[in-house]
Amino acid sequence: MTDVLSPLEFDQKHLWHPYTNVTKPGPTFVVKEAEGVHLTLEDGTRLIDAMSSWWCMMHGHRNPAITGAIHQQLETLPHVMFGGLTHHAAIDLGRKLLEITPASLTRIFYCDSGSVSVEVAMKMAVQYQHAMGHVGRSQFATIRSGYHGDTWKAMSVCDPDTGMHHLFQGALSVQHFVSRPPIRLGEEWNDDPAKNGLEELRRVLSAATDQIAGFILEPVVQGTGGMYFYHPEYLNQARALCDEFGILLIFDEIATGFGRTGQLFATGHCAVEPDIICLGKGLTGGHISFATTMTNDRVATGIGNGQPGIFMHGPTYMANPLACAAAKAALDLLTGQDWQSRVATISSQMRTELAPARALPNVADVRVLGAIGVIEMTHQVSADAAHARARDMGVFLRPFGKNIYTMPPYVTTPDQLSQITAGMLRLAQEL
Ligand SMILES: *Cc1c(COP(=O)(O)O)cnc(C)c1O
Repeated sequence: MTDVLSPLEFDQKHLWHPYTNVTKPGPTFVVKEAEGVHLTLEDGTRLIDAMSSWWCMMHGHRNPAITGAIHQQLETLPHVMFGGLTHHAAIDLGRKLLEITPASLTRIFYCDSGSVSVEVAMKMAVQYQHAMGHVGRSQFATIRSGYHGDTWKAMSVCDPDTGMHHLFQGALSVQHFVSRPPIRLGEEWNDDPAKNGLEELRRVLSAATDQIAGFILEPVVQGTGGMYFYHPEYLNQARALCDEFGILLIFDEIATGFGRTGQLFATGHCAVEPDIICLGKGLTGGHISFATTMTNDRVATGIGNGQPGIFMHGPTYMANPLACAAAKAALDLLTGQDWQSRVATISSQMRTELAPARALPNVADVRVLGAIGVIEMTHQVSADAAHARARDMGVFLRPFGKNIYTMPPYVTTPDQLSQITAGMLRLAQEL
């Protein structure tokens, strides 16, 4: 027999974790089970999951409505290929999605994960341009500080400085970057294009019109790239510029979708709709990986009427029935409750309880939008150091870059939320 490793030793020796050095594993907690907002560790410690497990577990872990839907689906049709076949789980979810997403988005492509949905969106844009006779349009414009996933094409539109561009330089497609929208959410809009970022956007789009297929960005909230909230008027005017130059507008709502920003979709903060939208993360309430790319009739029929007509994508697990059933249940849960007041209540409590952080010496900014609460520090915060301290406070927090943040599950009670904000304040004081 080879040496017998404990489960954690095995994990540390053999399993890669996200963005880690497999030869120098950081502190890692073994989670035994989860329910509602709580994670239970092997030693019985219970932690509030203030991250909603990377922003997707909005209705709480092991939500009975969602696990019930998965169980039921498991009994009849766990999976079937989607080529030449369809099923009620996909159709029922499709109906639900059409009910709640921006009205012009009528065509649905189901896929496996957020990054894949971005790949699909970018492919759609290129195929559409090709079908319109613009065969040179295969590049993209985007704003700095964005994050769109870890696959190749998605990575090419992530922030070129904080993303992985250095490392993969040469392997990534050339894209066109503009500054992130300079006017923040809540600040007064400035119509001067030199001040609101639109002069620069116009310059970039007009200089490379023949190369650019689409303009992709996270509407209103840039998540991983810095938890930055910007003025939605930028999006209204970007829509007009895209139309002027024949460029498709792509909203990546993988982080902002399903009520997180206080609107059902961040698109709801502005007056326009995108040509393509990417949804993921909260789609199944965090119970199983799933995503979707939706587009309008213009793009769908444009691709369909062009050459080769067919859309060139089709994952093996496309429209997986278990994922569809989970998503339908999660969306029913969301829209079946007064989610808007729930998010508003979480928002105002976070505003009150995080405000004292402004007085701390190393805090650069405190901001809250919907169920997103952020304490931005003046320096990078170590996630590993944060884990141990937050754990003492009964909370699981994983800061990123300079940001100590929470995206609590919507089912978080006021007392639990106070525990989260107290944990964040302590991290801001001590790290
Ligand atoms: C998380 C995220 C992605 C990537 O989704 P995965 O499911 O991790 O592939 C893409 N875009 C945004 C805005 C995200 O927050």
